[in-house]
Amino acid sequence: MVYKIALDLEGTIADIHTTFSKKIIESYRVNFSVEDINAWNWGEKVKSLGLSIQDCLDIRKNIWLQELESIPFTDETVRETIYVLTKKYKVDIVTAIEKEAEDSARNWLSHNSINHLNLVFHNDKEELDYDLFIDDKPSLASKLPYDKLIVYDRPWNRYLNSQRVYQLEEVVKKIDEQEI
Ligand SMILES: [Mg+2]
Repeated sequence: MVYKIALDLEGTIADIHTTFSKKIIESYRVNFSVEDINAWNWGEKVKSLGLSIQDCLDIRKNIWLQELESIPFTDETVRETIYVLTKKYKVDIVTAIEKEAEDSARNWLSHNSINHLNLVFHNDKEELDYDLFIDDKPSLASKLPYDKLIVYDRPWNRYLNSQRVYQLEEVVKKIDEQEI
């Protein structure tokens, strides 16, 4: 049986939060970084600037719709790690991105030359049949068995007691250790 991996897009390989942070700096003339987004609801700092959760979601969506080229990889090992993983495993990009941004997700993968991967849109990822999920979303930790989730370290998931990587390349070793 081929070992199947669901690799998340936003926050795991596509660093929309860095682009988001740049927008906040430009618009509000404040110091702001991804570290300030310290909760899944975008954290206290954006709130203190008068931004609601919906405002943040809108900023984020507009980045996808209007300037996806500005979204970097989350770390410098992403491209190579995807290459390494796909040689050995079945890797799909699995994302819960909204309908409106589906084309942007596709285009971002093309723009970064990783459009050879299947792109799967699904809201409740835990329902899907994968051996491993690599994701930054905190709520998955309570829905998946410990060994089925590797959390990509982000400020909004640091409280989780899950398997964790700080750079994508670290998943290769973790999978080697646990693969049956
Ligand atoms: Mg994500």
